[in-house]
Amino acid sequence: MTPSRCTAIALILFSAHLAHSQSILGFSPTSAAREARVEEKFKSIPTPDEERRQHRIFTAEPHVAGSKRNNELAEYIRDEWKKQGLEDVIIRRYDVYGTNPKSASLEMIAPTHYQAVLRESPLPGDDDSNNPAISGAWLGMSISGEVTAPVVYAHSGNPEDYDLLRQNGISVKGKIVLVRYSNPYSYRGFKALTAQREGAAAILIYSDPAEDGYKKGKVDPDGPWGPEYKIQRGAITYDFIVPGDPLTPGWASIPGAKRIPIEQAMSAPKIMALPISWHDAKPLLENMNGDGPVAPDSWQGGLPFQYHLGGERVKVHLKIEMDNGTQPYYVVEGRIRGSELPDEWVVLGNHRDAWAFGGVDPSSGTASMMELTRALGQLAKEGMRPRRTLVVCSWDGEEVGLTGSTEWGEQFADELRAKAVVYINVDEATSGPDFTGQAVASLAPMLEETTRSLNDPSGKSLYDAWKATTERRRKENNSSGPFDSGAANTTLADTRIGSGSDHTVFLNFIGMPVIGLGFAGDYGVYHSGYDDFYWMNHFGDPGYKYHTLMSQLWGVTALRLANADLLPFDFASYAANVRQFVNELMKAQPAAMSMWGRAPSPVQSTEARQPPPEFRAILDAIDNFEAAGKKLNESLTRKLSSHVDPKLALTVNHGMMQVERNWLNPDGIPGRPWFKHILYGARFTYAHLELPGLTEAVEAQDWPRAKKQARILQRALKKNTQLVNQLSDTVTNASIAEITTRSERP
Ligand SMILES: [Zn+2]
Repeated sequence: MTPSRCTAIALILFSAHLAHSQSILGFSPTSAAREARVEEKFKSIPTPDEERRQHRIFTAEPHVAGSKRNNELAEYIRDEWKKQGLEDVIIRRYDVYGTNPKSASLEMIAPTHYQAVLRESPLPGDDDSNNPAISGAWLGMSISGEVTAPVVYAHSGNPEDYDLLRQNGISVKGKIVLVRYSNPYSYRGFKALTAQREGAAAILIYSDPAEDGYKKGKVDPDGPWGPEYKIQRGAITYDFIVPGDPLTPGWASIPGAKRIPIEQAMSAPKIMALPISWHDAKPLLENMNGDGPVAPDSWQGGLPFQYHLGGERVKVHLKIEMDNGTQPYYVVEGRIRGSELPDEWVVLGNHRDAWAFGGVDPSSGTASMMELTRALGQLAKEGMRPRRTLVVCSWDGEEVGLTGSTEWGEQFADELRAKAVVYINVDEATSGPDFTGQAVASLAPMLEETTRSLNDPSGKSLYDAWKATTERRRKENNSSGPFDSGAANTTLADTRIGSGSDHTVFLNFIGMPVIGLGFAGDYGVYHSGYDDFYWMNHFGDPGYKYHTLMSQLWGVTALRLANADLLPFDFASYAANVRQFVNELMKAQPAAMSMWGRAPSPVQSTEARQPPPEFRAILDAIDNFEAAGKKLNESLTRKLSSHVDPKLALTVNHGMMQVERNWLNPDGIPGRPWFKHILYGARFTYAHLELPGLTEAVEAQDWPRAKKQARILQRALKKNTQLVNQLSDTVTNASIAEITTRSERP
């Protein structure tokens, strides 16, 4: 090879590299070059030392929703944001139905006496675990009451567990059920509702060492797993029916708002509930030896004896007193006003309230948010203001029915539907090194692209680290929580979005695209007094590198959405995901598909293997939507390679923002009118539930309802196909008009 050819090839390679490194979805080459400079500057600002300093401030004291300390932290955030250069900083107040513990006691009165501790003992080396302000055992939204009754061991407290008890002749009516937290995972509120429906007098929920204790590995203070006295607090609000303040379902709890009586509140539990440690559960389970049949193998836990179903011998006396006075929750709101498009909003949020110190949940996210806002403020001061407005919120009462974000979202629903581009949620920023990125399918490609420009502490790009983690998890096929779907996606980003955090109101009620970011690892102290600064510094993120990376990732993702010329929505990706959801539903319900609209027949005809006509229509509509998405992608890419007229951008971006809103059905999911999204919903367990209205109708084999839901889905697909086609025409016609104008110039 001659030197000159070699140089030429090197030049080509170099410019190809340059072009690649500066190409960003939604940006013209000039804007991408500017964006790359802004992002480099932005990423250089957050530091592990500052992350750690902020984390210490938020984890210094317990700060449960509605507490004095949590309200002081709201004022701290307000003051810091003002110093950092955020604008329009304001604290918003919502007066909600309160649920605070006054007292709780649990004692076994037969066959022997045992007084439950209901507190967490201090750990050597962890001074915070000595703090007397750490609460005892309690569950938000338990009712007050007093009962003496026999105890039944009901495994996970899911409906099938009660079926098994019935098969063994055991009724739980008027008795107290003792259930485990997570085997498999389900939201504790669903366990409470199930126990209430079964007629139980109360529910005790304990942490079995098999799930998050010594059976998993070393326990705190020597390892990340839960110790003997660990209590997993939490709320049991039925927020899978409607989240937020139970007294204002669907509207904001602002002064003067109408409030319904608690007796009429769909989301208010009607059962006593208490969480206990395995230390307190052990005497109950141990004394069930010979009481009722031996529990099945899958019901055995990590304690060193055989578990029994119980129901006769072990009797306990339980007393719970709650304070249900109205209490204020405070949402802190601040913004960096957009330089060019102040009325297009990128909304970011993290909750502030914690069950105790909230080392992981949520203070790791809060520390990351404070470094994120410091960096954004500094950019603005240096003249690098985002084109669109960034709205940042510190939510309150997430832990109690997602209340702060829900009330705020309900208050500003109309404005958000007009202005919001996206909501980006960070709840637990880090409990370990495994990245989990969630996004509605239209934003999955942009999220994946964004992770390529960030460095994981492992030395890989965040994208490569994410890919490796995802492959490993899929191999393990270990679905461990509501955010870990375990199912394969057409995208690396997890596009199966359930509930359980502050994105819910934005996605399901307002129709905003959402992204959720987090790093996860071995974490056995969730919602306990041991989830603290010590735990984070020894196990979760000792060097605060993942906190720092989270601030960088959160910011870069937000900046791309705030600065893009044409918003980086990919509707072809959306279509592919929806097709997968539909195919999975048909696969999961073969019998339902063959019975669809017909009388059930014992003979399966070959014709039954064909999808029902309504599903064929949906699949056709998805094909059309995908074709429209591809066409728009192509016209946007072409447009971005030339000049993007601001007026055209405004029209096209607002059109694209409308697509997510069009997935809303104003009537909501049957039985749950607050949840309006027809692609995304959540089961009562918080688990993701795709095509919620249609899926639930098919599962119930309610054909008239299923047909109606199928038509609603088909109509929404058609509407969005028309909109997306119209947007590509607008882009293409504008390009033609420009060429014509240019060539007509003398
Ligand atoms: Zn949380």
